[in-house]
Amino acid sequence: MPKNSKGREVAEVVPGKCIGCQLCIGECPTNVITMEDGVAVIEAEGCIGCGKCVDVCPVEGAILFEKQRKKKAPKAAVACPIEEYKGVAVFIEVQNGRGAEVSWELMGKARELAQKLDTRVFGFLPGYNIKSVAKEAIAYGCDIVYTLDDPLLETYLSKVYGKALAHLCQQVKPDILLLGATPLGRDVSSVVATQLGTGLTADCTGLDIDPECRLLMMTRPTFGGSIMATILCRNHRPQMSTVRPRVMKLPEKDMQRRGEIKKLGFEAARDSLPQVLEFIPRTAEAGEVDITRAPVLVVVGKGACDSKSLPMLEELAHLLGGTIACSRAVIEAGLLPYPRQVGQTGKTVAPKIYIGVGVSGAVQHLVGIQGSDKIIAINTDSQAPLMQIADYAIVGDYQQVVPRLIEGIKVRTEKEASKG
Ligand SMILES: Cc1cc2nc3c(=O)[nH]c(=O)nc-3n(C[C@H](O)[C@H](O)[C@H](O)COP(=O)(O)OP(=O)(O)OC[C@H]3O[C@@H](n4cnc5c(N)ncnc54)[C@H](O)[C@@H]3O)c2cc1C
Ligand code: SF4
Ligand code: SF4
Repeated sequence: MPKNSKGREVAEVVPGKCIGCQLCIGECPTNVITMEDGVAVIEAEGCIGCGKCVDVCPVEGAILFEKQRKKKAPKAAVACPIEEYKGVAVFIEVQNGRGAEVSWELMGKARELAQKLDTRVFGFLPGYNIKSVAKEAIAYGCDIVYTLDDPLLETYLSKVYGKALAHLCQQVKPDILLLGATPLGRDVSSVVATQLGTGLTADCTGLDIDPECRLLMMTRPTFGGSIMATILCRNHRPQMSTVRPRVMKLPEKDMQRRGEIKKLGFEAARDSLPQVLEFIPRTAEAGEVDITRAPVLVVVGKGACDSKSLPMLEELAHLLGGTIACSRAVIEAGLLPYPRQVGQTGKTVAPKIYIGVGVSGAVQHLVGIQGSDKIIAINTDSQAPLMQIADYAIVGDYQQVVPRLIEGIKVRTEKEASKG
């Protein structure tokens, strides 16, 4: 193993193997790695031999480093082989005493995955007074709902819910656990994954089963949304994934469907868990609109980002019974507030009609509109990506196109009203 002049064992790059990805540079705590002719070079005198560059390097053998390092062993979920984990579980989130819609959307996806794996769908339902939610879970496709009904779980706390959900996983041993990527779901999923020592793929836009290895294929945008990555969790269980609301289709609700409800005990060490003394619910701000529920969205892009045009675009939205949303470029310009943003770092929407006005259709925007029934794009550039995927692409300046649309809708509405 290479050593520096102080006799310290250090890392050394093998030039012929290094592919120049630069991942090691960001990882080095002493900033002793630089790039020379597309290859990483380590300044041996400054290297402290921590081995972090070796851990991150994607090329086996590109960095020489033989020192034995203590690797943190992940905590095992339960001491049992992977083959013993069975079933697809969905964390059922309770919002204002009702099951969150995203949990039912995931229940539909869980059924599909379970069918491919020839297994059952479980619902994990921690909460308080949740019997009606458990029945609803069965109506949406759950075979067995495992409930933890406890006053301690009436109000969400990361530590308490994390423990409750980890406890359910340890009892039931699901192969897969799906959670909604809501603020609560995002928070609790990371707590549970850490407690169980398993992997978690957040914000997936696609879930499927690999026909050969029968693992969950979790697809999500990566590298700033420029590519889609499909991630497998080979060595730990459960395979965990979060999915945003409206990405998966809501299944049919069938109240005649039969299933089981099993109440489990939550014997958590109460003294060590925090308790909520008083809960003050958040009050919605005046004028706050949830763009994920709107049937029609007129989405303002940078090409239409003009305060003078906003009333016209709002009029179009209101005439169609919808509301205004926008791309990130419009948020950055300060024209509309963040809750109106559609896309990877905004909201995922699934309106019946999406009308993009001056929106180019960057991949980070497109991942948020996949569930739209009909996409209409108005753009001066016929080659813009949104125009390529739109059901109706109108080439033209929105200042001319939108007034004509408004006029046409008004004429049609008046005609229909006069008919009776
Ligand atoms: C990590 C990351 C996350 C991101 N997350 C998001 C996200 O969640 N949501 C999001 O939207 N973006 C997101 N972005 C930004 C994204 O990459 C794009 O920059 C952004 O979506 C572009 O917005 P736009 O289409 O409104 O603007 P532009 O790309 O500038 O497009 C403007 C369009 O308007 C057209 N136009 C110009 N004038 C007119 C006119 N008079 N009439 C009609 N059309 C006209 C142009 O031809 C052009 O196609 C993210 C980027 C990164 C790196
Ligand atoms: S071993 Fe540590 S200090 Fe040395 S180059 Fe690698 S990351 Fe930097
Ligand atoms: S991480 Fe490995 S392959 Fe990438 S630049 Fe560093 S040494 Fe080369």
